[in-house]
Amino acid sequence: MVVAACGRDRGAPRPRPMPKIDGSPALRGGGAARSPRIANYKIEARLDPVKHQIAATETLTWTNTGESSVDTLPFHLYLNAFKNEQSLFMRSSHGVMRGAHASDTGWGYLQIESVRIAGVDLTSKLHPPANAGSDETVVELPLVQPVAPGATIEVGFKFTAQLPEVFARTGYKGEFHMVGQWFPKIGVRVGPPGAERWECQPLHINTEFFADFGTYDVALTVPNTDTVAATGVLTNAVDAGRGQRTLTYHAEDVHDFAWMTDPYMDVMSGQAKLPSAGTVEVRVYYRPEHREFARRHLDAATGAIEKFSAMFVPYPWPIMSVIDPPVDAAAGAGGMEYPTLVTTGGDSVFARPGVRFPEYTTVHEVGHNWFQGLLASNEAEEAWLDEGVNDWADARVMAELYGQRSSLIDWMGWQAELGAMGRAIAGDTGPSPIATAAYAFVDSTAYSEATYIATMRALQTLERTVGSQRFAAAMKTYSKAFAFRHPTGRDLFDTLSSELGQDLTWFFGPVFHQVGRLELSLRHAGCRAAHPPRGVFGDAGARKTVTEVEAPDSGTWTCEVVIQNTGTIHVPVEIELNFADGSSKQLRWDDRGTGNWERFVIERSSRLVEVWIDPENKIALDNPTTHHYRIDGDGAAALRAGAWFGAFAQALMQIVGP
Ligand SMILES: [Zn+2]
Repeated sequence: MVVAACGRDRGAPRPRPMPKIDGSPALRGGGAARSPRIANYKIEARLDPVKHQIAATETLTWTNTGESSVDTLPFHLYLNAFKNEQSLFMRSSHGVMRGAHASDTGWGYLQIESVRIAGVDLTSKLHPPANAGSDETVVELPLVQPVAPGATIEVGFKFTAQLPEVFARTGYKGEFHMVGQWFPKIGVRVGPPGAERWECQPLHINTEFFADFGTYDVALTVPNTDTVAATGVLTNAVDAGRGQRTLTYHAEDVHDFAWMTDPYMDVMSGQAKLPSAGTVEVRVYYRPEHREFARRHLDAATGAIEKFSAMFVPYPWPIMSVIDPPVDAAAGAGGMEYPTLVTTGGDSVFARPGVRFPEYTTVHEVGHNWFQGLLASNEAEEAWLDEGVNDWADARVMAELYGQRSSLIDWMGWQAELGAMGRAIAGDTGPSPIATAAYAFVDSTAYSEATYIATMRALQTLERTVGSQRFAAAMKTYSKAFAFRHPTGRDLFDTLSSELGQDLTWFFGPVFHQVGRLELSLRHAGCRAAHPPRGVFGDAGARKTVTEVEAPDSGTWTCEVVIQNTGTIHVPVEIELNFADGSSKQLRWDDRGTGNWERFVIERSSRLVEVWIDPENKIALDNPTTHHYRIDGDGAAALRAGAWFGAFAQALMQIVGP
């Protein structure tokens, strides 16, 4: 079905009926502001679908909520990442680009035509930051008059956004337009009161976004043939003449605004029911040939909203839009999160029902509406707080939706669990610890391993060490305390430590701030038949030799097991010994501060035949391929490993992007 779509003649787009206004308020159930609403945008934009260009005006209303005055405003011009090969994004990609490569006609840029404050044209004052080099993704505007603490300033822009041919989350492909990171966007004031500074990083291949919450009022003038999806709720729709219409969207307590327009998309909708008895309308936008996948995305998105709402805080907006991009745009535009709107992917002939890559992509992106949308961490500095924490939550949600053992694959008798897949990946986390700024990793592989997989494994390990329910309750407290704010890693660590009632420095230090992992393995295991001591005893006349006959085997065994941890991370570990008579014995080794190995000596009426380190797979920060040993007759330990599984899982996991 999917393959047949390529080269399909869809015919000329036909005008569609005017879309119905959304009746619901921008916040589900209405009510007061949930966030400080520091950065508020009013934008009027017109799309030229032939040039793939947007002409727009923007009014930003920004409030200085800090205690120091502000004399410069920095703005992100993200689309300039795709302007030429001299952008930081292109230079830092080292040939590894997300999605399509730029073609000669496919570059994108953001041009500020003018900027005005209080009626004064300040366009000529715009300049790049001091250390920008050839990068143009940030621009600074020095102010004639500083913004005092508590004061509000209004900045008016006229700008042109040239979309790239779909590339790293945004752009066009044919008639499909996915419009993200498309308008001048102010940075965020961070730091202690009175000593605030601007956080406004240039766009790097590994960095995503960071912005303040606010309201958005965006009027989009688009062809009347198009289906449109956008952040927020549709509050007005009018004919704009010449085959165009203007759709106005309103969003509250969000930190971004993205939209999609396409003349061939259909919409499928359903409802998520929240624990607080409210509902969320879930809409999936898809090309007709993706209809069967759209159903799966709808089920996954609906389930994800219900589960995430129960696990953390309820989804606060009335609508969630899920865009399933056309096949030829999926690599560039699929798998991305925006407030109330995400793009998904994973549709392919290989993704049969039961092979849940499409579902997983949707769950992951919808999950970002919590870990990023609501808990708006700085993705440039602490990307693990949204990607890795989201991955941890995704594994739980997938297990709840599709079953613990078959959360990722349940197809033709084959089952695979998402968490185990992640754990089985024996990837080297590289030279940088998890808590590294996204732009400071050596390459994208090291960034992904640490930010996504190692973070998920770390949280799973801690969860199993302290108990799943207690950990879930602590994470819920974290989400409640920091929703509509900008939590840091410190905030997460402090919340977990206080909620779990213990100083977790022993865990967070080595796991998040140092390179390394656990390296648990069996160094030695074996049994010898037990018997009274043999040999020569006493001196002179009293000397006596005790022989095998005089000290026969007692029928029991003395077994010795040596476990080692050659890694840098130490957590309590359980060990299971299985004996020939079918009995077993559980050991516990807490090697924190006790050296890197432990010898266990056990007297038993039966021989040792099997050693399992971490038999319940509680420790996700290790490679489980060195955990299971069969002890044969002469006492040699043979590793029963599944190294193939790691390689296989790695290949599968790479299908799912950020
Ligand atoms: Zn992600």
